[in-house]
Amino acid sequence: MSNDDCLFCKIASGEIPADKILESDDVIAFRDINPQAPTHVLIIPRRHIATINDIEDADAADLGKLYIAAKEIAAKEGFAEQGYRVTMNCNAAAGQTVFHVHLHLLGGRDFTWPPG
Ligand code: AMP
Ligand code: ZN
Repeated sequence: MSNDDCLFCKIASGEIPADKILESDDVIAFRDINPQAPTHVLIIPRRHIATINDIEDADAADLGKLYIAAKEIAAKEGFAEQGYRVTMNCNAAAGQTVFHVHLHLLGGRDFTWPPG
C-alpha cells in the first residue's frame, strides 16, 4: 500500500531518487538529505504508515525490522560499539515533517540528552 502524495513512498518506489544503502521487501534505508551527524540515515517501512499513532498490530513485524536494519547499518558504518542515536518523531510537537514513519539513525559523533 502506498500513498500517492507521500515523498517517502515515492523514494521507496524509485520515482524520486535517494542515496539508498539498503533495500528489502519490507524496509528501505537512505541517507538524509540534510544530515545532522556524520552518518544520518532514514529507515522506513515500504508500506505507508503516516505516524506512530497509526501503527497497528499487523505492522509490528515491519517496525521491528526497522531496528534490525538500524543495528546492521550501525555495524557497517563502524559506530555500533561507540554508540548511536535512533529516534522517530511523531507529529508537530516532535518536529515530524514527513508523514511516513521513519527511524532516524544518527552516528559518528557524541549526542547529548535530553534532545532539544
Ligand atoms: P522528520 O522531521 O522526523 O519528519 O524527518 C524528515 C527527514 O527527512 C528530515 O531529516 C529531512 O532532512 C529528510 N528529508 C526530506 N526530504 C528528503 C529527501 N528527498 N531525501 C532524503 N531525506 C529527506
Ligand atoms: Zn508513504
